[in-house]
Amino acid sequence: MQFIDLKTQYKEYQTEIDGAMQAVMEHGRFIMGPEIAEVETELASFAGAKHCISVSSGTHSLEIALRALNIGPGDEVITVPFTWISSSEVILLVGAKPVFVDIDPVTFNIDVDQIESLITEKTKAIMPVCLFGQMPNFEKLNAIGKKHGIAILEDAAQSFGATQNGKRSCGVADIGSTSFFPAKPLGCYGDGGALFTDDEELATAMKAIRTHGGTKRHHHTLVGTNGRFDTLQAAVILAKLPHFQKEVEARGRIGARYSELLRDCCTVPEVMDGNTHVYAQYTLRVDDREALQARLKEAGIPTAVYYPKCLHEQPVFEFLGYSYGDFPECEKASKEVVSLPMHPFLTEQDQDLVVEAVKSAIA
Ligand SMILES: *Cc1c(COP(=O)(O)O)cnc(C)c1O
Repeated sequence: MQFIDLKTQYKEYQTEIDGAMQAVMEHGRFIMGPEIAEVETELASFAGAKHCISVSSGTHSLEIALRALNIGPGDEVITVPFTWISSSEVILLVGAKPVFVDIDPVTFNIDVDQIESLITEKTKAIMPVCLFGQMPNFEKLNAIGKKHGIAILEDAAQSFGATQNGKRSCGVADIGSTSFFPAKPLGCYGDGGALFTDDEELATAMKAIRTHGGTKRHHHTLVGTNGRFDTLQAAVILAKLPHFQKEVEARGRIGARYSELLRDCCTVPEVMDGNTHVYAQYTLRVDDREALQARLKEAGIPTAVYYPKCLHEQPVFEFLGYSYGDFPECEKASKEVVSLPMHPFLTEQDQDLVVEAVKSAIA
């Protein structure tokens, strides 16, 4: 059994993917070829945002967003320490300081009610992470942003395709940032990502920063980078996108079925009112994670832990001065979480094998 099955997906859409990639090889415009504008139009329309700027990765995408927001030395960004390293790495990369806030134990997402007490004159942005594929309460987040004049940057690397009150992830905040890393809900065949906004000025800045800060050829107004999305990868996304909503629905169904069958034996991921979940990871909480993982491994079922260590426990963030105990919900989650195989092609038979193995391990 595969944890994430990209091979079956490729076989399903092979003709379209091969054709789209072949077309790029034939026209030969590998950098900023016609597929780039095409995929940006399609993605913007999917997410419900005015502008999409495709970029070279989900990490680069967050960094470009922070630069476009003019965040740098002396500034603070409020975010969570229970996430992939990229979220806070980019804050350091632009010279700013991450200010951590604990998570809500039910959703694993930022505890929105703890944010306001951390806002200072230096706070320039809040970066909520839609962990495992579900969005935190953006109505509340946007209200806080508006009240204090702070930007909301959604790290939607795991939640592309998820919705909240009918609005799609990446179309709800000042800037939405996602990743097309192969294992994400919408993955390409290498690195990639995209930025979304309704704001004309931010869109112009992000576009310029992506390509060396130039608004026209040989005229550089901002400190930029080489953050372009590959044309070949844009072709892969263009071929996969027409199937994506169907995959999102399959993910939702499989996640709901897992939860229904496992609810009695462990803590299953809850979907908040008004939300749909894309289960980038289907993540349980259990008391004895090592035992569960060992039993599942014996049964040929792969598992993974996202994330065994919080960011404030990582040596690179030590200088921030946090210590163990500062974010009890993050720390507790990092000891209890375990993720099960999840992808849109997971058969009911395989789901049942996983469920039986989890039940017998916990019994
Ligand atoms: C994957 C991920 C990123 C980074 O995306 P890459 O494309 O791998 O650079 C950022 N934030 C979160 C929460 C992620 O899961």
